[in-house]
Amino acid sequence: MTLMTGEEYRASLRDRKPLKVYFTGELLQDPLDHPIIQASINSIALTYDLAHNPQFRSIMTATSSITGETINRFCYLHQSTEDLEKKVQMLRLLGQQCGTCFQRCVGMDALNAVYLTTYDIDQKHKTNYQQRFIEYMKEVEKHDWVIDGCMTDPKGDRSKRPSEQKDPDVFVHVVERRDDGVVIRGAKAHQTGAVNSHEHLLMPTLAMRDAEKEFTICCAVPADAEGITYFYGRQASDLRRLDQSAEGDIDCGNPEFGGQECLIIFDNVFVPTERIFMNGESEFCSQLVESFAAYHRQSYGGCKVGVGDVLIGAAATIAEYNGVQNASHIKDKLTEMVHLNETLYSCGLACSSCGQQTAAGNYLVDILLANVCKQNVTRFPFEIARLLQDIAGGLFVTCPSAKELENPETRQIIEKYLVGAEGVDTIDRMKILRLIENLTLGRAAVGYLTESMHGAGSPQAQRIMIGRLANFEEKKKLAKSLARIEEK
Ligand code: SF4
Ligand code: FE
Repeated sequence: MTLMTGEEYRASLRDRKPLKVYFTGELLQDPLDHPIIQASINSIALTYDLAHNPQFRSIMTATSSITGETINRFCYLHQSTEDLEKKVQMLRLLGQQCGTCFQRCVGMDALNAVYLTTYDIDQKHKTNYQQRFIEYMKEVEKHDWVIDGCMTDPKGDRSKRPSEQKDPDVFVHVVERRDDGVVIRGAKAHQTGAVNSHEHLLMPTLAMRDAEKEFTICCAVPADAEGITYFYGRQASDLRRLDQSAEGDIDCGNPEFGGQECLIIFDNVFVPTERIFMNGESEFCSQLVESFAAYHRQSYGGCKVGVGDVLIGAAATIAEYNGVQNASHIKDKLTEMVHLNETLYSCGLACSSCGQQTAAGNYLVDILLANVCKQNVTRFPFEIARLLQDIAGGLFVTCPSAKELENPETRQIIEKYLVGAEGVDTIDRMKILRLIENLTLGRAAVGYLTESMHGAGSPQAQRIMIGRLANFEEKKKLAKSLARIEEK
């Protein structure tokens, strides 16, 4: 079924075999009913529901280049620079709507990277990976799947190559070759939305060498495949979601939406041949890693900007609630937040509009500009969050619990002393303060801050790419020419 609704998506997760999910020392009996997981499912469900909203249809949907059907843009192979720009707009929209990570982009980025890489492998090795991948794409589109793009291995001792590790399982690798496929073992860390996915699309985590063919594997497995275990990541203040008071779940900050990160263990998981898209062609690992990273670095110029809009809105709201909205330094700080946020958006759009068609036919972003985009994302959200905390005042970390509102005696005291500007409801003031806490210190800060730092590669990874793509020789020629220095 193409274009599922959010409800159909939720139902489709229940069609999977039960997943083995550990959280806080417990094997969850029904992971999908857990309130923390439900909040993360709510965020992905938005990617389905907004595709049915006429206002957002052109951003959220696209025409499949494979079947001609209307599909969700998250399942789409980009066909133009305009498509790349729409992707950034879509991610901004979703970030605005949920104020957290909606998890579905990693798969979209992996699909596009694997598509263009399989084409190039086939050209060199006369393999048929791309046709296999196109057949897979048809399934992805038909079922409107959430694909979990799995790249990051735990990596063990960083000074050693995969084959030199004491325990090779810290990198996903092939442990058995069969006539009908392979068996893989290992783990993938920091996996966004893993439990909420239909499929995992695994890619090598770094450029492999010839001797590392067992580690050179790109393949897809269902999320409920035998041998997979999930360890659900702890996040700051995650148990706040379980706090309920007579006033609802104010203390959680963002009552409806959350993100999700997991450690996935693949313990002898069988992969049939038709789901293998790279198998030992180690010279193509860097292309796959770099193109995936570039797409995902572009993504951050959309999703983080959308969440940034929420931070700016929270800053403007608390300024009003505190009665300081007309202070010139507050106005200036709000302007600076907008300037930083729109700079990120400009980077996301720039690397999109300078994108180019690949030999495979889909479009890839400008890699240098995508890296510049992500490098800025490792910094600006921290400054935007700092300005929000500055504007908010200290109460967002010292505010008493919403449970104090249940007792009329203590409620009266809270309402008397936490009052803000005249006419502002004290409970509303508490709500926005808790949202600010959530965005800058709590669960959403995982996506907005730490993921801005390390997601899609830590800052140094972008600096390496920027240095490599800068073309210093060309720039030296420009300078020498103006200075009338002749090449000797
Ligand atoms: Fe998408 Fe952003 Fe979450 Fe990555 S961090 S999955 S790009 S919302
Ligand atoms: Fe991410």
